[in-house]
Amino acid sequence: MNRLKGLKNNYPKPQRLSFPKDEEETGWLSDLLDSYYTADRGIFELILKEERKGRRLACARGCSTCCSTHVTIPVYPMEILGIYWYVLLKLEKDMQKILKERLINHKDNDGCPFLIDGACFIHPMRPLACRHFNVFNTPCAPGEDPYYTRRKDVLTPDESTKNKALACLLSIHNINDRKEKKEFVRTGQIHTLAKNLQEIEWIRLGERIE
Ligand code: SF4
Ligand code: SF4
Repeated sequence: MNRLKGLKNNYPKPQRLSFPKDEEETGWLSDLLDSYYTADRGIFELILKEERKGRRLACARGCSTCCSTHVTIPVYPMEILGIYWYVLLKLEKDMQKILKERLINHKDNDGCPFLIDGACFIHPMRPLACRHFNVFNTPCAPGEDPYYTRRKDVLTPDESTKNKALACLLSIHNINDRKEKKEFVRTGQIHTLAKNLQEIEWIRLGERIE
C-alpha cells in the first residue's frame, strides 16, 4: 500500500512537500502536509530500526496487491480535501484524463479507485492508513491481508507519532487547541470523522475533472 519505496532500504528518507501559495490560500493544506511528513518520518525511523535487525521491507515500487485487497481504508475529511486539491489542481493533464475514466467507471470490486496499472495516482496525497501499512519479508500474495496471515511481518506504527499525525487533521473541525486535539485523538473520537475510502462517491471527483 505504500509504494514510496525503491532505494537501498526500500523506503527513501521522507521530505515534507511544500506548496507555499496553495498552503497560504487553503489554510488547511499545511496541516495536511505536516501530518503526512510526521507519519512518514515515524515510519522511516521504524523501518530503519527493523532493517538494522536484518529484516527486509517487502513493499516496493510497483507492489500494489494490498491496494486491491483492502476494502476498509479509513480516510479523514482533510485527507479527502487533499485528494480533491491534488487531483484537480496538481495532477498532470494526461493523468487526470486516465483517472477521470477510472473514477467514472469504477465498480465496487475493482479495488482502490486510485490504483491504475499498479500505480497510485494520488501517491503524494495517499491517506495515512496507506502510509502506515508496511510489510516485511515477503510481498503480499494476491488476496492476502498479512495483518491476519502473518501479523509479525506487519510494521506496527509508533502510537504517539501516529496520534500526532492524526491531530494535524483537526483544524478544519475547529479543533485548534493542542490539548483538545490530543484528547480528541486519544479518546478515539477522531475516528468518528473517518469514512471508508472505498465507499466515497469518487465519481463526483471524476465528474469535476475537465
Ligand atoms: S508488500 Fe504488501 S503491503 Fe507492501 S506494497 Fe506490496 S502488497 Fe502492499
Ligand atoms: S490511495 Fe489507493 S492506490 Fe493509493 S496507496 Fe492507498 S490504497 Fe493504494
